[in-house]
Amino acid sequence: MIGWLQWSLIEFPLCVGAAISTHLVMSCGQTLMHYWLGHRRIGGILFRNHINYHHARYARGHLTSTVPEGSEGNNTPYFYIPVLLVGAAAYFVLPLGLFIAVTAGAGASFYAHVWFDKAYHIDGSYLERFAWFRRKQQLHFVHHLHANANFAVIDFFWDRLLGTYREPSGPTSKPPIPADAAVRAITREKH
Ligand SMILES: [Zn+2]
Ligand SMILES: [Zn+2]
Repeated sequence: MIGWLQWSLIEFPLCVGAAISTHLVMSCGQTLMHYWLGHRRIGGILFRNHINYHHARYARGHLTSTVPEGSEGNNTPYFYIPVLLVGAAAYFVLPLGLFIAVTAGAGASFYAHVWFDKAYHIDGSYLERFAWFRRKQQLHFVHHLHANANFAVIDFFWDRLLGTYREPSGPTSKPPIPADAAVRAITREKH
């Protein structure tokens, strides 16, 4: 009985808190790396990949596409390195229960970041029926239109702290057209 009470009152809330904190550290790290490495030459391959693929593919007039982004120029594998290094260090420092919570939080957060960035750019995503998703999507599109703003992918309050937050422009802004339609229009112009 004492063991169960201790688990439900102390250990379980501690593990939930650790998982949430891990996600916040991950989303803060994503925002800072996007800001410092993704948009500055010092980022090297991360900078070139991000600008030449993600930003080139999704720009003004073609922010969404019916075809998901391919693996070419994908920076995600590079982020496995720091995450796995921190994970290995956590294994030696944390008790097993907390280590599992931190690992689960980090894995879920990592996956959520990749998934949201893909979903924002899918034309007609089923998530667009949700106001909270459309709001985050618009905030992310602001980054594609103004590359010095909104570096977060999930938690845009980090941009408020960083001083890079920017609200989406009003309803007068043109609705984005799918990348495929833009590509077809360019191809038609050439012929
Ligand atoms: Zn960017
Ligand atoms: Zn994007």
